[in-house]
Amino acid sequence: MSDALLSDPHLAAEMLVHLGRAARGDGAEAGLTAAQWTALRFFARANRLSRTPSAFAAFHATTRGTASQTVKALVAAGYLERLRDERDGRAARIEVTAAGRALLAADPLHVIAAAIGRLPPAQQRALISALQNVVGETARLREGPCFGVCAECRHLAALKAVSAGGYHCEEADIALSAEELEQLCVAFAPKPPGGGSPA
Ligand code: SF4
Repeated sequence: MSDALLSDPHLAAEMLVHLGRAARGDGAEAGLTAAQWTALRFFARANRLSRTPSAFAAFHATTRGTASQTVKALVAAGYLERLRDERDGRAARIEVTAAGRALLAADPLHVIAAAIGRLPPAQQRALISALQNVVGETARLREGPCFGVCAECRHLAALKAVSAGGYHCEEADIALSAEELEQLCVAFAPKPPGGGSPA
């Protein structure tokens, strides 16, 4: 590829769109729409604070009404279930069912992950780091929320170990398991450019 193409941000953006389309599969996989696949993946990757229709609406840059319809369709299909939040009985927490997890095993996204997995390790790390920066900058330009995980969060110092394998984030006021530290969080805030962890 020429130097001009290698430094063309529009080409990179079009490639990302192409990959986004590929992640939808050929449309035959369980008959899910692109939004439904995104929702199923989101609820499988989000921490408990973020497993709500409104957090999904923010993640998917859509309205709460549209997000609720997407969740409703997946609940009706048996791939998601709506539970009462233990901290706020009026709020709903969304969980992926066993059928939803089985479906995710055949997620068309795996093909893209496999292609990335075939890159040399240094290229994989550079790609993930660059994409993380693009996601953060896009959120900043859109003045929208940015989702991420604890290790990359500006509020990392607010995360305290409270028991073996148990944590509490004082910023988000949420208890987390060790597993959830690597899940998407709606309260995530990116570190300042060039910034390390606060403590
Ligand atoms: S606010 Fe940041 S540190 Fe706290 S749970 Fe969310 S991602 Fe983790």
